[in-house]
Amino acid sequence: MNSKLKKALAAIFIFCTAHTIVHAEPIKLTYDGKTHPYDLLPINLYINNQPIATTIMPPIQLGERVLVPAREVFEPMGATVEWKADEEKVYVYDQTSLLVLEVNAPEAFVNGQIKLLDMPPKIINDKLMIPIRFISEQLGYGVIWQGETRNVLIDKPVTVPKETLPIPEEAIPVEQTPPTQNLENTLNNISYVHNENTLILEKPSRLSINDISVIDLFRERKIIVNLNGDYSDFFYEGHLVSQEGRIKNVSVSYNGGTQLIIDTFTISAVNIYEVGNQIHIQFVKPSEKYSQIVVIDAGHGGSDPGARSASGIMEKELNIRYAMDVYQLLLNNPHLKVYMTRETDVKPSLQERAIWSNEIGAHLFVSIHNNSINNPAVNGTETFYFSNPDDPRSEYFAKMIQANMVQGLGMTDRKAKAGNGLFVLKNTTMPAVLLEIGFMSNVQDLDKLTQPDFSPRLAQIIYDSIMAYFESGYHLMQ
Ligand SMILES: [Zn+2]
Repeated sequence: MNSKLKKALAAIFIFCTAHTIVHAEPIKLTYDGKTHPYDLLPINLYINNQPIATTIMPPIQLGERVLVPAREVFEPMGATVEWKADEEKVYVYDQTSLLVLEVNAPEAFVNGQIKLLDMPPKIINDKLMIPIRFISEQLGYGVIWQGETRNVLIDKPVTVPKETLPIPEEAIPVEQTPPTQNLENTLNNISYVHNENTLILEKPSRLSINDISVIDLFRERKIIVNLNGDYSDFFYEGHLVSQEGRIKNVSVSYNGGTQLIIDTFTISAVNIYEVGNQIHIQFVKPSEKYSQIVVIDAGHGGSDPGARSASGIMEKELNIRYAMDVYQLLLNNPHLKVYMTRETDVKPSLQERAIWSNEIGAHLFVSIHNNSINNPAVNGTETFYFSNPDDPRSEYFAKMIQANMVQGLGMTDRKAKAGNGLFVLKNTTMPAVLLEIGFMSNVQDLDKLTQPDFSPRLAQIIYDSIMAYFESGYHLMQ
C-alpha cells in the first residue's frame, strides 16, 4: 500500500472511530525509572494557528496532560528555555514572566509565587518534557484542547475572556477538583479536618497541652510536634495521607517521646489549643499567625562562596556570621517572627529563598552580602531595594537602614539604590532590601568587616532598623 493511501485510510479510520479509543503504533517511553508502552495517537500542536512540529520527541499525553519538548515548543513562542542539569530545573522566561520547574516536583515557581502542578516536568527518553497547558497559561497564552482531532491550540493574546471560551466536551480539565474524602489514615485517635486545616487529637489523660512543643523545619515544609511522653499505645505508629488542606502527611513515631511529623504542602505555622478532651493543632499561613515577619537571608553558602578576599576570606562566612547575630537579636523579641533562609553553610537556591519568603507571607526581606570589585580603592556600604512607584516601602526601609549603617559603622556612603534586577528583590512579593555591607576587595573595609566587634555592632543596627520600620507603621501602608 502506498503511503498516500495509507494516510487517507488512516484519516478515515480516525474520523470514523473518533468516539472510540484509537491507538497508534506503540512506542516505548522511559521515565521515572521504568519503560512504559505508549500507543496513543499523535497530538498536533498549533501556535497562533501555525502547526509546530517537534523533532526530538512528539508531544506525549500522560493522564490528562500533554507534555512537550521544552525548547522546541516554547522558544518559537518567544520564551527562553534554560535547563540546569545539576538542579534538574528548567527556567522558562520572557519579558514578563519567570517560571522555574523541577523534574518530578509538584511545585512550580511563577513570578515569585509557588503554584502546584498536577503534572510536573519529566525526563522522557532522556528528553526534558514540560506540561504545555501550565507553561502556556502562565506565559499568558490561551490553550484549547480538541479531543476529537487531538489538536492543542495555543493562542496569544487571549482576546476572549477565559471564562467564556467554549470548552469542548473532551477538554483537558483546566482545574480538576480534587476528589473529596481523599484521606488515608492508619492512626488511632487522630483525625484531620481539612477545611479547617486542623489535626484533632483525642487527649490521653496523661497528656497536658503544656508538654507539647513544636519544631518548625519550614525550609523542608515540615513541622514536628513533640508530645513529651510515650503515647504510641494510644495513637499507634502509623500515618495519615491527605491531598487536601495544608497537610500532606502525618506520621507518628516514637523518638524518646511521641512525635507527630507533619509534612505540609506550603510553609505553615501552628496554633495549638485544648477543646474539651481534645487537642487541636491548626495549620495556618505564617502571616495569619504573626503580624510582623522578617526573613533574614545570608547570601551565598555551601558550594557558592560569593566574593573572596585576597587573603582567602569568603563572603559566605561573613554573611552568615552577621545574619546569625541579627537572628539572635530578633529571636529574643516576642513581637516579631524571624525566618532564616539558612543557618549553616548550605546553599539554598535563589528561587528557594524567594519562594519561602513569599509562602511565609513575610513583611520584610533583608539579604546580607558583601561586595568585591577589581579596583581595590573602591569601598563603602550600599543598600539595594526594589524600586516600585506604587509601593515606596522598600525604598523607605533601604534609605533608613543605609543611613543607620553608614553612621553607626563609619563606612563610606555608597547610598541606597534601586536594584530591580537582583533576583531576590525582583521575585519576593514583600518590601525587600539587599545590603552590601562593605568591600572585601578593599583593605580598610575588609579590616573593619573582620574585626570581632563588627558583627554584633552591625547586627544591632540592622535589628534597630527593622524595629524602627515596624514601629513606624510603614509596613502597613501600600
Ligand atoms: Zn554576595
